[in-house]
Amino acid sequence: MADFSFLNRKEIVSTLASQPYDLVIIGGGITGAGIALDAASRGLKTALIEKNDFAFGTSSRSTKLIHGGLRYLKQLEFGLVKEVGSERAVVHRLARHLVVPEKMLLPLSEKKGLGYWLTSIGLKIYDWLAGVKPEDQRRMLTKQQTLKCEPLLRKDDVKGGAIYAEYRTDDARLTIEIVKVAVAHGADVLSYAKVSDFVYKEDQVAGIKVSDIITGNEFVVRSKAVVSAAGPWVDELREINRSKSGKRLHLTKGVHIVVAHSRFPVRQAIYFDVDDGRMIFAIPRGRVTYVGTTDTTYNGDKDHVFTTRDDAQYLIAAVNATFPSVKLSLDDIESSWAGLRPLIHEEGKSASELSRKDEIFESPSGLISIAGGKLTGYRKMAERVVNLVIKKHFDDRRFSPCRTDQIKLAGGGFANVKDVKKFIENVSRNLHSLEMPDAARYLVENFGMQSDEIIKIAGTLDKSQPHLTLLKAQLMYCVRHEMICNAHDFFVRRTGLIYFDIHQVIKWKDEIVKECSAFLGWDSTRRYAELKELEILISSQRNFQ
Ligand SMILES: Cc1cc2nc3c(=O)[nH]c(=O)nc-3n(C[C@H](O)[C@H](O)[C@H](O)COP(=O)(O)OP(=O)(O)OC[C@H]3O[C@@H](n4cnc5c(N)ncnc54)[C@H](O)[C@@H]3O)c2cc1C
Repeated sequence: MADFSFLNRKEIVSTLASQPYDLVIIGGGITGAGIALDAASRGLKTALIEKNDFAFGTSSRSTKLIHGGLRYLKQLEFGLVKEVGSERAVVHRLARHLVVPEKMLLPLSEKKGLGYWLTSIGLKIYDWLAGVKPEDQRRMLTKQQTLKCEPLLRKDDVKGGAIYAEYRTDDARLTIEIVKVAVAHGADVLSYAKVSDFVYKEDQVAGIKVSDIITGNEFVVRSKAVVSAAGPWVDELREINRSKSGKRLHLTKGVHIVVAHSRFPVRQAIYFDVDDGRMIFAIPRGRVTYVGTTDTTYNGDKDHVFTTRDDAQYLIAAVNATFPSVKLSLDDIESSWAGLRPLIHEEGKSASELSRKDEIFESPSGLISIAGGKLTGYRKMAERVVNLVIKKHFDDRRFSPCRTDQIKLAGGGFANVKDVKKFIENVSRNLHSLEMPDAARYLVENFGMQSDEIIKIAGTLDKSQPHLTLLKAQLMYCVRHEMICNAHDFFVRRTGLIYFDIHQVIKWKDEIVKECSAFLGWDSTRRYAELKELEILISSQRNFQ
């Protein structure tokens, strides 16, 4: 297999333009990536086109949980909770390093939220619907036990609590690992290429017109079936297809803020009630804690979604009300992200009340669009879409049934959690020569077994500045195997450093842009422009309008 690298991009474009496909997918978020893997692994000749980097849209801006969606139980969405709840264990099995069990603390407040017994019964149903193993099922806590778990909680308001099982992940890394496995199964995949129109044959969609954002060239990809998994942009493509009628999207914005863990030292992930009836997560991750999310109707520019001062203040007020000794202020925010939920509009319902269920639209000209849903449910959504594509376009005896529950993601060949732990210890030993054994957990949780290759690369580099050496080794790995096209791709979606360790980005941006420039063949003008863009991105993480 040719490496999935920018260095092979020309060949990928020429392959896409020169042969017909069974299925072409628009959008390289988790939904598109999942469909590409499902289709390619069943034997469909598959292509995927993404207008920016993989996971550029909502799939790098979620709460980064593989969760059953406890609050959907309140909305009586039993089907959704059952499906995504059960999927947690499946996705964990496919990438145990990247989908990591995380116990969630649910404090119960005297004044807000549900009572003790309703919570106890609700969580029991949650565990039952999702088939959670007995040892991981919810545990109810007394007031004293809850405060022992999290001493920062407001003591006069806590009346008890519960601990229940969830999983944390990195959404963008999950997406890229699925894309890489889809490529390994024969899918042809291109980023920085925008679908501008459809090609028709006898009034039926028979392909897409693509503008290559990097070269400016245009080309056509012919295909029997076209699926739009364009997330918040789904209605834009339905408009181009002249099929935007009936149900439509309702976009809601969700923001997360990041502060140093030392400023908000929660001992574990917490899901707490807010005065307005909503619930918010506070999740510790390495040297930071992140807090989110908001949920407000959004009608602005979908390509540039920002955290506003109001968003940040709402989250800060929520933290300070529940954890009074913390006293966060806007100045504590190191970084942030804002994403759009592509929900299905329902007349008279507010942003928070809209269903998170996915929906498939079929246009008279044969375009299939899918929107809504959860990161967690990507595999089942993909299965439904590919089943429909096969039913509509092919003799289904030609293709095998969905088997993505058996396909391990790239870097994810671990047998169990103990295996991951052992691997981290091994990596830690190997990082001793760089004097950076503490980086092992970060490396393994991001790259899994692929960490070995990164360490091997690091072994060939100058080691005078260990942090930079490890960063350069990751960059080289991502250039060779993960189709990065610029420094944003690296710092935002391959490593998450812009969110979780922005100081590293600030410190090493010049060196990394210089390295990118050498690998990707930039001239000095491009190099300067990339650096400026990176500086704008850094300052936008905490300078709110
Ligand atoms: C704040 C927030 C928190 C969330 N938290 C969680 C969570 O913790 N757990 C969970 O399970 N779910 C969560 N979700 C939901 C989850 O993130 C989304 O359901 C999921 O990421 C949607 O993925 P997608 O692939 O459908 O859309 P996207 O990720 O937006 O992907 C669509 C892609 O299509 C591309 N595209 C658009 N137009 C074109 C075009 N013309 N040509 C080519 N490409 C195009 C875009 O660039 C984009 O990359 C959260 C959502 C939000 C907003």
